[in-house]
Amino acid sequence: MHYFEYIKGELHCEGIPISRITEKVGTPFYLYSYKTLVRHFNVFNEAFQGISHLVCYSMKANSNLALIRLFASLGGGVDVVSGGELYRALKGGADPRQIVFSGVGKKEEEIEFALKSGILMFNVESSMELRAIDGVAGRINKKAPIAIRVNPDIDAKTHPYITTGLKQNKFGIDILRAPMAYRLASELPNLKVVGIDCHLGSQLVEVEPFVDALKKLRRLVDSLRKEGMEIRYLDLGGGLGITYNDEEPPDPVEYASSILDQIRSFDCTLILEPGRVIVGNAGILVSRVLYTKENEEKRFIIVDAAMNDLVRPSYYGSFHQVLPVKKENREEIVADVVGPVCESADFLAKGRKIQKLHPGELIAVMSAGAYGFSMSTNYNSRPRVAEVLVRDDEMHVIRKREGYEDLIRGEKIPKFLLESTLKG
Ligand SMILES: *Cc1c(COP(=O)(O)O)cnc(C)c1O
Repeated sequence: MHYFEYIKGELHCEGIPISRITEKVGTPFYLYSYKTLVRHFNVFNEAFQGISHLVCYSMKANSNLALIRLFASLGGGVDVVSGGELYRALKGGADPRQIVFSGVGKKEEEIEFALKSGILMFNVESSMELRAIDGVAGRINKKAPIAIRVNPDIDAKTHPYITTGLKQNKFGIDILRAPMAYRLASELPNLKVVGIDCHLGSQLVEVEPFVDALKKLRRLVDSLRKEGMEIRYLDLGGGLGITYNDEEPPDPVEYASSILDQIRSFDCTLILEPGRVIVGNAGILVSRVLYTKENEEKRFIIVDAAMNDLVRPSYYGSFHQVLPVKKENREEIVADVVGPVCESADFLAKGRKIQKLHPGELIAVMSAGAYGFSMSTNYNSRPRVAEVLVRDDEMHVIRKREGYEDLIRGEKIPKFLLESTLKG
C-alpha cells in the first residue's frame, strides 16, 4: 500500500504530479511519500501493540536525516551498524536510549562513541568483540549493556547476499557456542548482559524462519536464565520482505500474529529492526529518457539514472517495476532500461515490457526507497542525486543534488606533482 498513483494518466506522489517536481529539481532524484512512510511505520508498530516493544528502524535501508527524524517523532528507535550511522541517528534526533548497535566489526572509537552517547545496547557478534567492548568501557568508566547476536543456523530462503543466519555466514555467534560467550560476558567486569539478538536476513517472504529461530532462542534463553543471566530484551532483527513484483510476503499484522504467542512466552521487551518493509515501497527513483536504440536482437532505453544511483538490479539481480510517468496510448515494446555508466552490469531492468518511450520522457523505478540512495556511489564521477519528500501537495528537498565540487572534496594533488611541469 503506497501513495504513488496515476491520476488522469500521470503518476502522482500524494497530491503532486511527478513532472512538476522534476521541473524544480531536475533528474534523476529519489522521491519519498510522507504518508506512506508514516503509514508503514505505524502499521508495523501497532501490529505489536499489547506487548512491551520497541521498533528500532534499521537505518542502513535509508539513512536520510529527515526519515530518522520522522520515525523518532513516531516513537521509533534506530538500529545502527557504524559510527557514521550513530552520528546521523543522533543528528536526526533519535533518542540514544533507543539505539541498538549491530555489526560484526565495531572499532574501538565507534564503541567509545556509542558508550559515551548512552545507547540501549550493543548486539555483539564475537567473543573478541566482547573483550574489546569490555576494554573500552573499563577505560572510560562505563558499564556496557550487551546482547549477543546468535546465529541460529536457519535458512531464510532469500538471496545468498542477504541471508545472514546460516553457519556459513559471518554474522553472529553460533547458537551452540552462545552459552560460552554469555558466560564470558557475565564474567567481564565492564559488561552488563541485558538481552539476546538474532537477525536472519533480508527480504524474507515467509514467517517460518522467524518461528523456527524463536524456538531455538527460547531453549537458549531458558538455559541462560537458569545460569542466572538477566535477559530483558529479545531483539528479533529485521528482514520482513516486500512486494517488488509478485512476491507475497506476510503483512506486518500477519507476521506479528504468527509470532506473538511465542514472543510473550519470553517475558522480554521485544525489539524489532525493520528497514525495507518501512521504506521500500515508500520511495521511487525518477529518471529521464536520454536516448533509445535498437539492433537485430535488442532494444535499449537509455536513461539518466544508473547503477551508481540504484545498484540493486546489478548487484542482486533485483526486480524493480519501471513505469512511464505519463501513460500514453502507444505500442508496447520489450527493452532493457540502462544507464550511462560504463559497465554491462549497468541496468535498471532487463527484457521489460513497457510503452514505447521518447527522449525527454520520464520513468519511475518503483520500490526504490530501501537500499536505494543509501547504497548509491559516485562511480563514473556521477554526483549523487537529490532526495525529495512529498507531503500532500508540498515538496521538500531533503538532500540536494551533489555538484562537481562535491566529487573532489577532500582530494589533493601532492606538492611534488604540482611542481612538475605538465607535458603536452
Ligand atoms: C540490514 C539489517 C536489518 C534490516 O533488514 P531489513 O531487511 O531491511 O528489514 C536489521 N538488523 C540488522 C542487524 C541488519 O543488518
